[in-house]
Amino acid sequence: MNDCIFCKIIKGSVSCDKVYEDKEILGFLDISPVNPGHTLVIPKKHYETMLDVPDDLLKKIVLVAKKVAKSLIVTKEGGVNVIVNNYASAGQLVPHLHFHIIPRHIGDGHVFSWKSHKYESDKQKEEYRKAIQKSLG
Ligand code: 5GP
Ligand code: ZN
Repeated sequence: MNDCIFCKIIKGSVSCDKVYEDKEILGFLDISPVNPGHTLVIPKKHYETMLDVPDDLLKKIVLVAKKVAKSLIVTKEGGVNVIVNNYASAGQLVPHLHFHIIPRHIGDGHVFSWKSHKYESDKQKEEYRKAIQKSLG
């Protein structure tokens, strides 16, 4: 992908603050961190979302994300958000799969909130449950 910023980082034409690299995966600091240490973990091959990447590679990315998450929890009260935004409607700005690993601390002031939705009825909830279950096979 010629115009993908993360592909440019992988090629080396755009620089990054690298924290991890192997044959298939790169980890680097987010340019605009939610908290210090906010890291992105990406496949070197371009896939738009988590839904597109082959399962074997996804497993490897998740394991790297886990290692990075462990390395970021430095204090007793430290926590970590691991987030993947898939598609623009879900907040994805860079269309190259990336896991956000965001260190969190009590009182850091960040709130990842969403407006909670109420089902119109139990019938509607049951329709969603059945549709998801059917699709899962
Ligand atoms: P998204 O909204 O797509 O899930 O998140 C994209 C993330 O990529 C953002 O947190 C943004 O700060 C980060 N980002 C965008 N461009 C660059 C860049 O050139 N270098 C680095 N290190 N991070 C970037
Ligand atoms: Zn890319």
